[in-house]
Amino acid sequence: MGRNLDSKCQQCRRVGEKLFLKGERCNTPKCAMVKRNYPPGFHGPTRGRRKLSDYGTQLMEKQKAKKYYNVMEKQFRLTFEKASKKSGDSGKNFLRLLETRLDNVVFRLGFATSRTQARQLVNHGHFDVNGVKTDIASYIVKPGQEISVRVRSRKNPYFKQLSEKLKKAELPGWLNLQAAELKAKVLHEPTDNDLPTNINVQMIIEYYSK
Ligand code: SF4
Repeated sequence: MGRNLDSKCQQCRRVGEKLFLKGERCNTPKCAMVKRNYPPGFHGPTRGRRKLSDYGTQLMEKQKAKKYYNVMEKQFRLTFEKASKKSGDSGKNFLRLLETRLDNVVFRLGFATSRTQARQLVNHGHFDVNGVKTDIASYIVKPGQEISVRVRSRKNPYFKQLSEKLKKAELPGWLNLQAAELKAKVLHEPTDNDLPTNINVQMIIEYYSK
């Protein structure tokens, strides 16, 4: 089976970690990483996880991060190059750029249950940034900006029922949410503590440095 035909859960099983690709199901006992924590395929249950070469480990880490953020290779690499040109720690800069993508912010705010759904909601033009319709998932939000559900989208049944759910969402400290108004403010860039700990960014740097 080709990679593109893989189900989302198979992607998690391949890298051996939960990548949270399926929304609410990921936090339930139905998660495939709870039920079948071994690689997909006929030999998966018995063969276990193979030890990878250094290159294989770096490649796996890059693939994992790409899937986690739901970003295609070209965009992922361009983001990496942009991060490398900034001053400071390029690994942290890279994760910071990925975290501040508009689709990721929509996901972190709880407006969507997965990054895939967040991407769709952004692409379908449901959000304004500082009052301007913004339908580019890779748009990088900046401190001080306001992200809001567009006025016409608030009538949509999906957003109508959302504000109650949003009140229970766990938020990173760099975002301030006003759930009842379906809007949020970017207080500052994500700090080091706001960056994901499940991605070994050093491996990705080594992969792209070859
Ligand atoms: Fe991954 Fe979610 Fe499937 Fe679990 S339910 S294996 S976290 S996509």
